[in-house]
Amino acid sequence: MKIAVAGTGYVGLITGVCLAEMGYDVVCSDIREDKVLLLQSGCAPIYEPGIHSLLRRNLDAGRLLFTADPEIAYKNADIIFIAVGTPENPDGTANLDHVYEAAYTIGLCIEKDSIICTKSTVPVGTNERIKEIIQSVKPAHLEVQTVSTPEFLREGSAIYDFFHGDRIIIGTDSEEAAKIVEQIFLPLKIPLVKTDPRSAEMIKYASNAFLATKISFINEIAAICDKVGANIEEVAFGIGRDRRIGPQFLQAGIGYGGSCFPKDTKALVQIAGHVEHQFELLEAVIKVNNRQQILAVQKAKEMFGSLEGMRVAVLGLAFKPDTDDIREASSLTIIEALLAEGASVIAYDPVAIPNARKVFGEALEFTADIQTAISGAELALITTEWDHIKYLPLEKYVQFMKNPVIFDGRNCYSLMEVSNHPITYISIGRPPLHPKKAQKPARKNSNMEGRYDETFTSILPD
Ligand code: NAD
Repeated sequence: MKIAVAGTGYVGLITGVCLAEMGYDVVCSDIREDKVLLLQSGCAPIYEPGIHSLLRRNLDAGRLLFTADPEIAYKNADIIFIAVGTPENPDGTANLDHVYEAAYTIGLCIEKDSIICTKSTVPVGTNERIKEIIQSVKPAHLEVQTVSTPEFLREGSAIYDFFHGDRIIIGTDSEEAAKIVEQIFLPLKIPLVKTDPRSAEMIKYASNAFLATKISFINEIAAICDKVGANIEEVAFGIGRDRRIGPQFLQAGIGYGGSCFPKDTKALVQIAGHVEHQFELLEAVIKVNNRQQILAVQKAKEMFGSLEGMRVAVLGLAFKPDTDDIREASSLTIIEALLAEGASVIAYDPVAIPNARKVFGEALEFTADIQTAISGAELALITTEWDHIKYLPLEKYVQFMKNPVIFDGRNCYSLMEVSNHPITYISIGRPPLHPKKAQKPARKNSNMEGRYDETFTSILPD
């Protein structure tokens, strides 16, 4: 079985490397020659825990090839996965240019019957269009089947998710193609959901929309907690114990970001709109998230009046821990707002600085050393719950900041722990703490103690 993958981004690279790890012969293609060269040399262009060792092992074993020449990738492939990007258009719809280009190229290059599986997140009906495009250019004697196989991996644990996913969706009208795709993934023993292509495409959008809804829901509850004096952590714990609800995605914070939820929620609103259905619930989810992302800056303005000239440390650039992906990260919105307010920003992140530099250039300072970030800062904003941040002892803020004020957008610290330090501490959906109130007798118990390694200030690829 020869497999090709179109696109070597977060999804395509993980798919290609993991399929090779399963023992398949895999050729990954990308239109970006720089990425291909890097991958050929055994280096991953993205940060993803575990990727380097898998990449090198499979390159060395000769099961994995990277090429910028689509003919080499597609001509002998039995199965071709499309994993190219589907970014957001200005009107919120999914931009399918890369998907259709890939389909066109595949049609031109194939020299045998093949099955085309789409992993990219695409609106309902796209797989049909992909088939039409390939049919229009492929050699007449070849048979092509299309299968919608949407991807659910989480950046930061993408390799684990490939091998231990909750389900694999196989959406096709071809029984034969479904059986072949099923065979590929059978060794993983992951439950398969076989369905029609349109339902498969909708499953992906509905899954992301539901998870985003949970996040905005808990953020709404957090906003009410703030006003009525309840504690969102207690509330979320109590809600999450209900097995019908579950504890996941109930962490209040400064909103969801990343390359999927923001664009996929907007795309689903558009998909609904095109069939004259106003998806009011999802519109509200997006609105709440936009509000949540800017909350930290609003609260800082309320507290300080003006942020002009204030030194602010933004702790975390990646949209979540264990990735270098900053697409639609809440940190970006926050930094833009801080700069607009005239603040002087220094941003810390262990791996995402190169990506953030591409966005902000010299408009702010960057550091991969957390102590440098907070040194002399008047305000520290926690935007990503990296372990380096979660386990930074609170004494460090006291030691290195002028009058430590922390806005914790990810509720990384327990209130009990903070209350033992002379720190002004604002978090999400939990009562604020101020130094005067906070001078309580020390409590034994910090389970964070000893978990921060002074030398562990940046992460190198595995
Ligand atoms: P990405 O932007 O990281 O990577 C896309 C890659 O495709 C790029 O390297 C680009 O150069 C390449 N490409 C573009 N056109 C091409 C073509 N014609 N032929 C070959 N390569 C081409 O995107 P991603 O984050 O990997 O996402 C890919 C798709 O998977 C999107 O639809 C996304 O919504 C979906 N998805 C992403 C995630 C995630 O966590 N990133 C999770 C699930 C689903």
